[in-house]
Amino acid sequence: LDDARTDGGVIAREVAINASTPEQLALVRELQEAIVGGQLFLQYQPKIHVRRQEVSGVEALIRWRHPERGLVMPGDFIPLAEESEHILDLTIWTLRQVIGDQLILAEAGHDVPIFINIAGVLLANPRFVHLACSLVEESGAKIGFEITETSVIRDPASAIANLKTFAEIGITISIDDYGAGLSSLAYLKQLPARELKIDKLFVTQLTSSNRDPLIVRSTIDLAHALEMEVVAEGVETQAALALLAVMGCDMAQGFLISRPIGLDALIKYLEHGRANASSVISALNGRF
Ligand code: C2E
Ligand code: MG
Ligand code: MG
Ligand code: MG
Repeated sequence: LDDARTDGGVIAREVAINASTPEQLALVRELQEAIVGGQLFLQYQPKIHVRRQEVSGVEALIRWRHPERGLVMPGDFIPLAEESEHILDLTIWTLRQVIGDQLILAEAGHDVPIFINIAGVLLANPRFVHLACSLVEESGAKIGFEITETSVIRDPASAIANLKTFAEIGITISIDDYGAGLSSLAYLKQLPARELKIDKLFVTQLTSSNRDPLIVRSTIDLAHALEMEVVAEGVETQAALALLAVMGCDMAQGFLISRPIGLDALIKYLEHGRANASSVISALNGRF
């Protein structure tokens, strides 16, 4: 440990990671190479608007094609990136990629906002705020940021101020995984969010649980009272979508609608966007 401390750089940061296994430490070292070496890629998951029967946005989800380990999912490296400061480069890479992909979508005739997940540590990072604002303003891209309430807790004053800056330049703020973390109504009141995503924890068993429907319904009502639109994530069955529609949920995302897919598949999906969205929804007819 002493040796690591005197190094002052990468190793010192690595030992700061809680409960890291040798494998996790190796991943952290390899992340920088992954970012610059083209090993990261994005998949996109559409979300549909229930009443308008159209694709209302897509979420970018990062994956790592590791030369030896194969496909590594974000749950296995995003937390490490957050603790090792690679998260800034990784997120800026994602934002640039999304801006480029949105141009490709526009050329194919699809005008669709793309949402990216923003780690909490970045919300109070002035370098991130500056870089992200310049990239979005210069490109004119339609971008949304998905943030969790828990991520605001670290430094609420800066986080909320920066979120207001993002909102002012036209970035849609969406509260991700609502209900799963340290949700606080005090923050909910202050965040400049237009959208609230109910965590899949309450959605995947919606129709077989006694309590989940009550929680979901009251969350939808709360969000609407605060003038936010509601997205249910983790929609896997027609029965869940039907119940969500009855409860007034505005948007739905999940394996029933589409798994996360590559850009080419997304373009094909969007070509049949309205048909895709309405076929999922019209299958509900008669269930209202
Ligand atoms: P999230 O933002 O809540 O994303 C939703 C996760 O649920 C995704 O997992 C998605 O593939 C999965 N999912 C979508 N529909 C369904 C469904 O119907 N059923 C079930 N059971 N799961 C569904 P994924 O791609 O493994 O991402 C996990 C988390 O990693 C994300 O959660 C997000 O917090 C984080 N993440 C992903 N990409 C990025 C990124 O570029 N930057 C940051 N900071 N975090 C990211
Ligand atoms: Mg998300
Ligand atoms: Mg989520
Ligand atoms: Mg989630």
